[in-house]
Amino acid sequence: MKKKIVMFGSYVADLTGTAEHLPRAGETVFGELFKIGPGGKGSNQAVAAHRAGADIILATKLGKDVFGDLARDFYTQEDIAADYVLTDDEKGTGIALICVDQVSKQNQILVVPGACTNFTDADIETLRPAIEAADILLVQFEVNMDALERVMDIARTAGVMVVLNPAPARKVSREFICKADIVTPNEVEAAALTGVSVGDAADAEKAAAVFHEWGIPQVVITMGRRGVFASTPDESRMVRARAVEAVDTTGAGDAFNGGFVTALSEGKDLFEAVEFGNALASLAVQKFGTAPSMPMRSEIEKIL
Ligand code: ATP
Repeated sequence: MKKKIVMFGSYVADLTGTAEHLPRAGETVFGELFKIGPGGKGSNQAVAAHRAGADIILATKLGKDVFGDLARDFYTQEDIAADYVLTDDEKGTGIALICVDQVSKQNQILVVPGACTNFTDADIETLRPAIEAADILLVQFEVNMDALERVMDIARTAGVMVVLNPAPARKVSREFICKADIVTPNEVEAAALTGVSVGDAADAEKAAAVFHEWGIPQVVITMGRRGVFASTPDESRMVRARAVEAVDTTGAGDAFNGGFVTALSEGKDLFEAVEFGNALASLAVQKFGTAPSMPMRSEIEKIL
C-alpha cells in the first residue's frame, strides 16, 4: 500500500525570454525566444512525484488570471486533481520573469510570488482534512511562513511525517526547522540554516550533525552532480549522483525531492529513497525545463 502524500507549496509561471545580452538598468533589449512554463518548487515537486507514481495531493494557490488558467489546464493535462488548488481573490498567480543571456547562459530572475504567499487561516482550514488524512507532508519555503508553520503543526499533531525542503535559502529559527522529521537542503540552504559552510562531504557531515543535535532524525543534503549526503543517527554517507550529460539542471532539486518522497511513500528507507531521487533527477537534468522535464515511472524503472 502506498502512503498518501500531501504537497503544500507554490505554483509560479516561469516566463522565460532569451537575448544576446541581459538588459542593463534602463535598457530595453530585443529578445529571440519566449516561453511560458509551469514552475514553482511545490508544483514541480508534486508533478515529479505524480509522474513517478505517487499518491499525492497538490495543495497550492493561484490568482484569477490567465496564468492561473494555464496552471489549471496543465494539471488537467497531467491528470493531477485540483481539489486543493485554491484561488486568491486579490493576488495574482506567482510569476518568475527569467531573462537568459544566450551567449553566457547567465540569467536574471525576478519572482513575484503572488497568491502562493497569501495562504489565509481559512485556506489552511480547507486543507486541514487532507493533511490530517495523509502519511507524509512535503513542504518548501516558497509560501508565507505563518501558513507553513500552521500546516506543519497540523501534520505533527496528526502524526504525519514532515519532509521539509528548506528552499529557497532563508534564515528561520531552530524551533521552526525542528518541526520537520526529514530536511532536504542543498549546500547553500544547509549553510544558511546551520552556519556550517558546505563544500564537500566532510562539511556536509558537520552540517548534518548540527541538524541531528537539534533533534532532526534524518538529513539529506543535495550536492548537485556529486550527489547527496544522507544521514541518520546510525549511518551517514555520500550517495553518488548518476553520471549523465546534463543539459539543464534547473529544477534538479525539485526532481530529487519528488522522487525522494515517492520512494518513502512506497516504504523505502532513507538511503533507498535517496537513490530513487537521484535516478529521477538524473533523467530530469537531461531535458530542458522544470515540471515538463520530470520523467514518467517507466523511464525511471528502466535505469534502476
Ligand atoms: P535547483 O535549485 O537547480 O533545483 P538544487 O540546488 O536544489 O537545484 P542540486 O543539489 O543541484 O539541487 O541537485 C539535486 C540532485 O539532482 C542532486 O543531488 C543529484 O542527484 C541531481 N543532479 C543535479 N545535477 C546533476 C548532474 N549534473 N548530473 C546528475 N545528477 C544531477
